[in-house]
Amino acid sequence: MTPAGQHVLSQVSGGRVRAVVIYAAALAVVSASAAGLFVRDAAINVGTAMTASDVARLAYVAFLIIGLTYSTFHYVRKHHSQVDEIALLVFLVCGVNLIVQLTGGARSYWQGLYLVLGGLASVAFSRRLVVLLVALVLCLEASNFLIAPQSSPADLFRLSLLFLLAVVGYNYMERAERERAERAEDRLLRLNAGLKQLGAGADDDAAVSPLSEDGQRVGRAEQLQRLESHLEPLLQLATKATDARRAVLLQVAEGQGTFWVRLAAEGEVEPRQFDVRGTFLAEVLRTEEPVLLDSGEASYRLPWWLDSVAVQSVLAIPIRIWDEPPWILVLENDPPGHFEPERREMALAVASQMSEAQALFRRQAKHYVEELELKGLLQASEQLSRSSRLVELLRHVVDYAREVGRFDTCSVCLMADGNEDFSVVVAEGHRKELLGKTFPLESPTWAGWVLRAREEPLAIRMERRSGMPILDPKERPTTGAGFLAVPLRAHKRVCGALFLTREGETFTARELRLLRIYCNQAAVAIENAIVYERVENLAATDGLTGLFNRRYFEGALKRELARADRGSSNLALLLLDIDHFKSFNDTYGHVMGDLVLKKVATTLGRCLRQADVLARFGGEEFVVLLPQVSATGALESAERLRASLENAGIHPGGPRKNVTVSVGMAMFPGHAESAESLLLAADKALYQAKDAGRNRVVEAGAALAAKSTVS
Ligand code: GH3
Ligand code: MG
Ligand code: MG
Repeated sequence: MTPAGQHVLSQVSGGRVRAVVIYAAALAVVSASAAGLFVRDAAINVGTAMTASDVARLAYVAFLIIGLTYSTFHYVRKHHSQVDEIALLVFLVCGVNLIVQLTGGARSYWQGLYLVLGGLASVAFSRRLVVLLVALVLCLEASNFLIAPQSSPADLFRLSLLFLLAVVGYNYMERAERERAERAEDRLLRLNAGLKQLGAGADDDAAVSPLSEDGQRVGRAEQLQRLESHLEPLLQLATKATDARRAVLLQVAEGQGTFWVRLAAEGEVEPRQFDVRGTFLAEVLRTEEPVLLDSGEASYRLPWWLDSVAVQSVLAIPIRIWDEPPWILVLENDPPGHFEPERREMALAVASQMSEAQALFRRQAKHYVEELELKGLLQASEQLSRSSRLVELLRHVVDYAREVGRFDTCSVCLMADGNEDFSVVVAEGHRKELLGKTFPLESPTWAGWVLRAREEPLAIRMERRSGMPILDPKERPTTGAGFLAVPLRAHKRVCGALFLTREGETFTARELRLLRIYCNQAAVAIENAIVYERVENLAATDGLTGLFNRRYFEGALKRELARADRGSSNLALLLLDIDHFKSFNDTYGHVMGDLVLKKVATTLGRCLRQADVLARFGGEEFVVLLPQVSATGALESAERLRASLENAGIHPGGPRKNVTVSVGMAMFPGHAESAESLLLAADKALYQAKDAGRNRVVEAGAALAAKSTVS
């Protein structure tokens, strides 16, 4: 048996010896009283005729009086126990019986019966039974008096005495009951005050962002601190209510078999973790029941106190918190027997309040975080509903993902037209070249797999076994990183997916949950934006070549000019005109001419960057906007365009001369400062190119001359 086990007295009162003595005495009295029923002559002769039996009976009367007084005194005392109740009851019954005998009352079997009943009922430990029993005695005696034909004034006297005794006994009991109730009420009031304090504190709003991991950590720490600040008054209450010398609240670390002092009412404690094994706390954890160390002989030194003063009575109560390891309330005091039932009851009441406070706080903390998460989601979805542009929506998705948790790479893929490919529209932390790339849906990549087959989000750790690149089948698979994939599902179809990775750490269920909810909303917004932009594109494109039309180009030119102006950057404009196109048309007809226009459009498109704008300006003229380039860069681009067309081998109707273009180039702000003047300058340069023999690039002629013409 462990040392702790030897002292498990949780169910037994502190005053064990006293209880045994009183109980034995009461039983003896009951037996003696019952035996007295069978003595014929019950009267006590006092004086010369006094016999040994009279002396014995007198002694018995004296014993009864003393016993009754003693037990009554104990019963009305502040902290009476059930043992006191039993003793009082026994003495009451025996006293009644003695009076019956001395006053010569009828000795019926009834009397024997109620004595036995009284003895048995007293063992049942109920105060209500005391009252019942007194009532029973009264009834029996009354019936005895009425039935007896030879009723006398002595019988009347006997009955009055009984009545008086019952009233006095009842009064005592009532007073004791009232005192008890008052104490209970007082305790309840104090507990309620404690709880109110808890409630008041719980409503405070803390400015913690619950979406970020850090926010969550700060939030949890704050909640715990707040919980401690509310457990503190309860700990003080436990100390006061049980007259304990001091008290601590211990927290057991999950699965580690150690504990540390979470809260101490007074005195200094050691700031370290202690081993649970070999201490009485192991017993508390095993049985999940209160443990009382109170052998009366040993004294106990509790290891966490710096002063290590020994005490003789220690009470430890587990405070259950759902399915987590319990916290333990430990109270201590001298002398042995200090934590008698009444005090234990108080300690248990406070402990249950502590447990409720913990549960309340955990619920509140959970609701608090959930509420903030919901607020965050609402805000984010409002933001989504305010944007109709795909680029903006994608930026919101990345921002939200960043708020929810840390990541190293973030990518978004969208299904391409025809649902056979997907394109990478966001690629943060990936190689730059991946952005805008299109891969077949059948690729052996995470993106391909998720978009093909996955309806539900997943959060895993990427291992060598499951190694697959995320976006590009040619990439090396990532290993040892957390991976999160959330399909973007709108109108029951997957239109894309979000992928996150982070080194070393898998994504949590919380992150998965938040992003899943968010992505469901984002997907609808993204799908709508795609449809919207498609319709818008239709209005902005040229039917023959699929390039932007002139209307769109004019808008784009204004936007790009404004942006270049704001950012103090350059903008180049190229005007291209197919050489001798009229003669193509005339020779091969318009249908062939159209074919050439289409081929020229595709060839030009292939040579440009994503940020460049290519449009059909009209007829066989094309226009290109090159943002953020130097004049040299623009000339190089123009030359590249020209050369690629020349080498493209477009020669309708046979091996004749290839299609070529002449290009006029003008720079903002180098050559012109408005949309019109820029176009005019490029146009002039184009004419110069034609004049100079075609199939060449000309920079807006003498820049000053061009400028002065416009302005
Ligand atoms: P230059 O080298 O001086 O530019 O000679 P050019 O023959 O190209 O002269 P110009 O620019 O005046 O010729 C424009 C011709 O382009 C007129 C028209 O026949 C042809 N064209 C304009 N729009 C279309 C079109 O949509 N389809 C076809 N097939 N031809 C078109
Ligand atoms: Mg022309
Ligand atoms: Mg032409």
